[in-house]
Amino acid sequence: MIIFGWRVVFFTLTRGTFHCPDCGGDREYRRRQGRNFFTLFFIPVIPLTKTGGEFIECDTCRGRWNPGVLNVPTTAQLAHMPAMLLRLAIAQVLRSGDYTNAAARARAVGVVQQAGDAGYDDAGLTADLGRPFEEVRVEMGNAASALAPEARESILRAAAEIALIDGQLSVSEEETLSAVGADLQLTRVQVTGVISMARQESGH
Ligand SMILES: [Zn+2]
Repeated sequence: MIIFGWRVVFFTLTRGTFHCPDCGGDREYRRRQGRNFFTLFFIPVIPLTKTGGEFIECDTCRGRWNPGVLNVPTTAQLAHMPAMLLRLAIAQVLRSGDYTNAAARARAVGVVQQAGDAGYDDAGLTADLGRPFEEVRVEMGNAASALAPEARESILRAAAEIALIDGQLSVSEEETLSAVGADLQLTRVQVTGVISMARQESGH
């Protein structure tokens, strides 16, 4: 007697680290997809159709999620986010003014180092200054939503302070600060408040 049937076999496509909503922390995951197999004596022998879409499976709790779950930043990514956002914000503002100003550049590097990116240096700043404007805006928008409003305000504050090192804000510096504030998902009122506080402190 021949025993045959069908069975779903799951394949692992890729692996990585994600924030598991059930475990509440960073966990290893497998990106998987199921496929129907024709079985002979319970052994899958012939692959048939793919079943459903890809999903993310937590190695720890075995919970399954839609791949959209990978858009949530991991705890490790969050820890680096303030420094990364600072870099982007500062580079945007610096290049709208005199980005050759040595004092402004030194301060920019120092602020990013303080925020946790200890390896940041003038060469890193030059690289950030050369990145495409639109690419940076998208990256900032994605990262900003994960931070508290106070953290986003302090990032804009640091950028404003650096823009003020070489004197009064130029029109283009002010416009860039407003755009960066918007990318950081701050309101107009918050942006105006942060800039005027930075102005008062710098005396310009
Ligand atoms: Zn889990």
